[in-house]
Amino acid sequence: MAFQTIRGTFDVLPDAHSTGGAEIPGTAAWRWVEDVVRGVMERFAFEEIRTPVLEPIDLVARGVGGTTDIVQKEMFTVERSRETYVLRPEVTAPVMRAYLEHHLDQRGGAQRLFYVGPCFRAERPQKGRYRQFHQFGTELIGADDPRADAEVIANLRAVYDAFGMTDTRLRLNTLGDAADRPAFRDALREHFAPHAEALSETSRQRLETNPLRILDTKNPDERALLADAPRLTDFVGDDARAHYESLKALLDGMGVPYVEDPLLVRGLDYYTRTVFELESDALGAQGALAAGGRYDGLAQAVGSKTPVPAVGYAAGIERLFLALADQGVALPKPLHPDVFLVCLGDAAEAAGFGIAQTLRAAGLAVDFALGGRSMKAQMKAADRSQAAVAVLLGDDELAAGVAQVRDLGASEQRAVPIDQLAVELTGEDSAA
Ligand code: AMP
Repeated sequence: MAFQTIRGTFDVLPDAHSTGGAEIPGTAAWRWVEDVVRGVMERFAFEEIRTPVLEPIDLVARGVGGTTDIVQKEMFTVERSRETYVLRPEVTAPVMRAYLEHHLDQRGGAQRLFYVGPCFRAERPQKGRYRQFHQFGTELIGADDPRADAEVIANLRAVYDAFGMTDTRLRLNTLGDAADRPAFRDALREHFAPHAEALSETSRQRLETNPLRILDTKNPDERALLADAPRLTDFVGDDARAHYESLKALLDGMGVPYVEDPLLVRGLDYYTRTVFELESDALGAQGALAAGGRYDGLAQAVGSKTPVPAVGYAAGIERLFLALADQGVALPKPLHPDVFLVCLGDAAEAAGFGIAQTLRAAGLAVDFALGGRSMKAQMKAADRSQAAVAVLLGDDELAAGVAQVRDLGASEQRAVPIDQLAVELTGEDSAA
């Protein structure tokens, strides 16, 4: 049996291909997505950070949270002597680790960082859900100003605008401050206590360990119980409330649309104040395009002695591709060479190799057939390559110092001196 990619992972090939019923775009499309993302990040003055794919297990356990599905069930771990590492399930905790490890605060001001790269979660693979998937995201570290939250949300909006994506919805909520949390937790527990029977095993556990997560239950019976449950909104303190009002005013001022959703939560303790999610109708059950929020408690959760306010988001590239496909956005195709060399005869083949290097040095993309193929086979290969022109070289042409340049679209042909090929094909005249 030949080897195959591991379940929930995929190859990116030069052409788009389908695997497990899902279309995986070709390399050119991935590069285009990454280029568009980097372009928007640059305009927001976010700087790229690249952290290792392997991280210490404790960083992930503390940084993502021991009560999350990610840490409880979905980590890919790697044992090496006595250490256990994790293939990063997300990039926020690693970026915070890097910020603290390298004292990035000493660069002055808030740090505007972004990343693009693979993440790993042992989830059940399905459409839009993989075990190795790709995220881009921002982390704005060192500012508690509501403008930082607005900046990150404006950046998120700008990325999806740059892709021409219109049917998206930004859901927004505030979780209040850490100090607001215990009273809400107690109220929730009190509300659900008489209904414990109606709760799923998971929800009963969450009520103990992480009651906020009950708010995003998908179970219809539990959702019914939520209708008259205490509302998070009523427990948000004055500071967090003022922060949220300023953020909304900033978004309104920029014309960034959002929908307030009091049930939107991020289950982790270090999330404070702002939370948001970008949804697309195209995704349905596959959930969100991107999610983010403020995590003023993360730095201390991963070992900082002092609090470091921060806000950011993470977006899935596979989900973006699904949404782009749904909106009928055409993806870039593989690049074609400028020139395909067709060489007939030993001397022409040898000379052709040198000509290819000369043309490449002049900036042209040059391909040719390998393996001494017939003229007909080489012309077929030239057509298949979709090169703009074929340069035909036989031993006779070589003796005369000329090559035939054939326009593959129009099937017109002209003789060009070999030493003029680079100038002729790059469109630069020799006087220039
Ligand atoms: P999260 O860190 O869970 O908030 O995820 C942020 C974004 O990453 C999600 O909104 C998705 O777009 C994407 N994402 C998360 N998990 C997966 C996965 N298993 N496969 C594909 N994309 C994912």
